[in-house]
Amino acid sequence: MNKNFTEIPYKIYLEEDEMPKAWYNVRADMKNKPAPLLNPVTHEPATLDELKKVFCTELAKQELDDTTAYFPIPQEILDFYKMYRPSPLVRAYCLEKKLDTPAHIYYKFEGNNTSGSHKLNSAIAQAYYAKNQGLTGMTTETGAGQWGTALSMASAYLGLDCKVYMVKCSYEQKPFRREVMRTYGANVTPSPSMETEVGRKINEEFPGTTGSLGCAISEAVEAASKNEGYRYVLGSVLNQVALHQSIIGLETKTALDKYGVKPDIIIGCAGGGSNLAGLIAPFCGDMLRGEADYQIIAVEPASCPTMTRGVFGYDYCDTGRVCPLAKMYTLGSGYIPSSSHAGGLRYHGMSPVVSQLYHDGYLTARSVTQTEVFAAATEFARVEGILPAPESSHAIKVAIDEAMKCKETGEEKVIVFGLTGTGYFDMYAYQKFNDGLMGDYIPSDEEIKASTDKLPNI
Ligand SMILES: *Cc1c(COP(=O)(O)O)cnc(C)c1O
Repeated sequence: MNKNFTEIPYKIYLEEDEMPKAWYNVRADMKNKPAPLLNPVTHEPATLDELKKVFCTELAKQELDDTTAYFPIPQEILDFYKMYRPSPLVRAYCLEKKLDTPAHIYYKFEGNNTSGSHKLNSAIAQAYYAKNQGLTGMTTETGAGQWGTALSMASAYLGLDCKVYMVKCSYEQKPFRREVMRTYGANVTPSPSMETEVGRKINEEFPGTTGSLGCAISEAVEAASKNEGYRYVLGSVLNQVALHQSIIGLETKTALDKYGVKPDIIIGCAGGGSNLAGLIAPFCGDMLRGEADYQIIAVEPASCPTMTRGVFGYDYCDTGRVCPLAKMYTLGSGYIPSSSHAGGLRYHGMSPVVSQLYHDGYLTARSVTQTEVFAAATEFARVEGILPAPESSHAIKVAIDEAMKCKETGEEKVIVFGLTGTGYFDMYAYQKFNDGLMGDYIPSDEEIKASTDKLPNI
């Protein structure tokens, strides 16, 4: 058992010189590497030359590198990180007391920057490499808006243009997110738009559609390919994003090691899988090298149950089928979660790294309904103060569940979860919950099968 628990402060900050100086690439320690991305037309593994047309060169190299364990973080990125990192690892003493649990609960809080989430960790890295290559702008998609905000901030800092395709329902439901992006100089378009071929096609096929991440990705890729000096960037799913997000796990591990604390359970929410991949990376590294064992739990929404009910196979990353194919857990690229779903984490697929680790048994997955998630969010906010993002609250829900199990068994387990961001721009969703108007949507097996039946035959 860990010693000196009561001497652990509420917030564990690392000193500046204790901050990680390199990202950790968990693929280097995986025996079963994630399957390669495939060219969407030829279905052959995507080459560096092909990926260079979509991503900037350095990021394409990171995408393909399954063997280099550590990538030094360029000084300019480290300097930017220092403005909002290291992020605090907080001991949830008040939550423990409220739950009356013997468990020790910690959360790694990534909401301490204006974008309000962990996404800035990769946005600044991607913008830096684009700038370094002499590019002038980037296009991207955003769903709830955190990624678009993060990229807008990074672009403004480095003087790059930023064009964001925002899923239409979020564009309408989250006007303040949109205005934050515009304040940082981004150009924001609701997706599907009439500006791109794929947008026009999707609008024609599904009149009145409120959009999806998959559509917005297709539009952003098309816009990048038609604008000289632009590249497309993605805020999740990809190996390069998982790599940048390893800063979360590395800081967490350094901070826990500093106090001699070993986690038993590590919990993260999973949309495209980037924060989870980052949080668990160094811990999975320990497991892959046979040095330690942890129970890792990925939490996803019951309305978009990618890992718990999807299939493991090659699929398109976007609705328009212009991006490379990835082998991952997926509900099918045409899957669009019910519009009553307000809890985030709506992506149809899952990071190939997380998918492979899950497939190989290094982590388990659980799905939770959105009303349970908002109930957990509310309980957390009232004692810990932070108003959590709905996405993050998936992890809170399962952390509370695990802490309550400890109460039954009397076990003093150490639970660490990722609190990926704040929920200030999600107040419509909270309003629905507070008014008792939030429902739960759980897709039927037939609905999921109809979508996964359309997976490409590879
Ligand atoms: C985007 C986002 C997520 C989900 O994305 P992942 O790539 O799965 O990490 C989770 N929490 C917050 C606050 C987000 O903005």
